[in-house]
Amino acid sequence: MTRTPVALVTGASGQDGSYLVERLLADGYAVHGLVPPAGAAGTVPGVADLPAEVTAHAADLTDPVGVRALVRDVSPDEVYNLGGLSSVARSWQEPELTARVNGLAVVSLLEAAAETQESTGREVRLVQASSAEIFGEAPIAPQDERTPVRPVSPYGAAKAFAHHCVGVARRRELFAVSCILYNHESPRRPTTFVTRKITSGAARIAREGGTLALGNLDARRDWGWAPDYVDAMVRAARHTEPLDYVVATGEAHSVADFVAAAFSRVGIDDWQAHVRIDPEFVRPADPAVLIGDATRARTELGWSPSVTFDELVGRMVDADVATLERAG
Ligand code: GDP
Repeated sequence: MTRTPVALVTGASGQDGSYLVERLLADGYAVHGLVPPAGAAGTVPGVADLPAEVTAHAADLTDPVGVRALVRDVSPDEVYNLGGLSSVARSWQEPELTARVNGLAVVSLLEAAAETQESTGREVRLVQASSAEIFGEAPIAPQDERTPVRPVSPYGAAKAFAHHCVGVARRRELFAVSCILYNHESPRRPTTFVTRKITSGAARIAREGGTLALGNLDARRDWGWAPDYVDAMVRAARHTEPLDYVVATGEAHSVADFVAAAFSRVGIDDWQAHVRIDPEFVRPADPAVLIGDATRARTELGWSPSVTFDELVGRMVDADVATLERAG
């Protein structure tokens, strides 16, 4: 009888984690999900948010002893590190916590993966959910895997450290890869992200009027559909060789474009009348234009984005409209 493959997913109850867990269960994996312990900093989804088939572990990613023990006990074939603080905005308020969770924790996971591989004699593959924020002040657009790493936020700096550690671990014969994920969104995004803030705002304003307070409307991002990015990570884990990949659509839109598309979806054409700029949401520094060139993911992994910008905005707005309708 063949052994059921085992996956360990950190950040299992977040946006990407929830899609990844569903995917791995569908692929026939035994799935272990790591979620932050009760009372962890910030509002984070917990164990209760995981599907019943997932073996849940409430553990602190910043506890190296706990992380190593968990990886040893679970003995996974694939580790997906999606855990951590996901908000660039929040990283300015909590740079130390961001460094520990988004940066240092990866070292514990890599060490644990190497130890487990050595003790069991079975390969352990690790996928790090890296971020376009590592490129921050990118001198060129679009960026690819050879673009210099130059973060401009505490979030980007922590992810850059993790990204380099993955490269170092690969030199030690570990199958470790970074997927450099550009912004990827879905109705499961919390409203702290500008996309969901806009789509939930548009749904609300269409119903009851009012305004939406935003920061920099000129910021441009390469926004994709989150389940597509999860698919890229799974393909990267199962590829013949360990490589880093930019995962992106290759198309950038401004925050203003996103607002216009979202309001148009609910039948409002004069969106300017409903948006005001609040300095509270303007960041100390915003990266230059982040657009990814996913040629390597396309050619090596056969990956491509399946959802256009307008479809992405439409799906998110429709989900928010439906939620409001259900609420009555
Ligand atoms: P990020 O790219 O991971 O930081 O994702 P976000 O959705 O948080 O932000 C995307 C861009 O939207 C950034 O350049 C922000 O400066 C810009 N932005 C403009 N207004 C807002 C706002 O009200 N909230 C957030 N979160 N971002 C905003």
